[in-house]
Amino acid sequence: MTSTTAKSIAALKDEMIEWRHHIHSHPETAFEEKQTTQFIIEKLKSFGITELYTDFAPTGVVGVIHGKNKGRTIALRADIDALDIVEENKIGYCSKIPGKMHACGHDGHTATLLGAAKYLSANRNFSGTVIVIFQPAEENEGGGRVMVENGLFEKFSIEAVYGMHNQPNFALNHFLINHGPVMASYDVFEIKITGVGSHAAAPHLGRDTILTATNIVNSLQTIVSRNLNPTDSLVISVTQIHSGDTWNVLPQHAVIRGTVRALSAEDQDLAEERIKHISTGTALTFCTKAEVNYQRRYPATINHAKQADIAIKVAQKLVGNDKIVIDSPPTMGSEDFAFMLQKVPGVYIKIGAGDGANLHNPSYNFNDEILTTGAEYFVEIVHQELGN
Ligand SMILES: [Zn+2]
Ligand SMILES: [Zn+2]
Repeated sequence: MTSTTAKSIAALKDEMIEWRHHIHSHPETAFEEKQTTQFIIEKLKSFGITELYTDFAPTGVVGVIHGKNKGRTIALRADIDALDIVEENKIGYCSKIPGKMHACGHDGHTATLLGAAKYLSANRNFSGTVIVIFQPAEENEGGGRVMVENGLFEKFSIEAVYGMHNQPNFALNHFLINHGPVMASYDVFEIKITGVGSHAAAPHLGRDTILTATNIVNSLQTIVSRNLNPTDSLVISVTQIHSGDTWNVLPQHAVIRGTVRALSAEDQDLAEERIKHISTGTALTFCTKAEVNYQRRYPATINHAKQADIAIKVAQKLVGNDKIVIDSPPTMGSEDFAFMLQKVPGVYIKIGAGDGANLHNPSYNFNDEILTTGAEYFVEIVHQELGN
């Protein structure tokens, strides 16, 4: 990055902060980001970006920025949605929408990509096309998947995709870049157990669903310890058991629910297969029946080595080698950028936000001090990928 580029992006800082605070005070959740989308569209138009598309998802917007010369097409992505959390911050630009809050920093990611888009639109010294993706519904509802399924990547022949997330309690403006897995998959399961309800004083006349359920829960914990390759990571958490209403009845039904996090599709397959076998086998042991519904929500977020190397090169230019952590252990949370990475090569990096409340905490607030670093990162990615 030339010092002129860095200066021009630094000059956008106040504006980016203003946008970020506006979005922070107007949080909207999955597929309801109407005002947020309108705000982004107005900004993009004011930057001279007029080729805009809103038909890849119910909300969100995609902008097209052509360089001076023809060339390849790459995409930069920001997520725009908030969470159902009551904000506890006492700041001038607090959430004005009761029960909703930008507690994951997507307000900051949006402002960051807007800053990069403004710079790139004014300085089209690259060969090719940049697609800026403002993606809705990252939390829970898989807006990334929806955009992919609606042909976003085919429409523009996108060849690579870049995304970033802020990381509280990691040194300010330091970079975390992984080759390979960076976040886990997110699956959910439900096990419905049916037995024969009976008087609690006559268990021999019934078929006990609670006994079946507790044995299933215990046995599920053997999947990680006995079936998984010990060098892999997998989480199987049972988060709900529902059964029974009173003291003296053995209930006819029980339901177990939980979540699975894995770092590869193979381990997702393993978890699904073993949960089904253990549930039906245990039910058979206790003369009850178990029905398993296993749903895959988000795949693991797996970076591609070539784009990870490009990200490392860019980070080296921006902050220097000593502020980059390469190939740290992945976290077991999940991210729907994973769907984009299944479509085309790309990389999802994290930028340190310094000390503060963690993501999804009611006292969390995006650190404005990483806005320019993020925008510089996106701009330099474009220069690396598409030339100057
Ligand atoms: Zn989040
Ligand atoms: Zn997030």
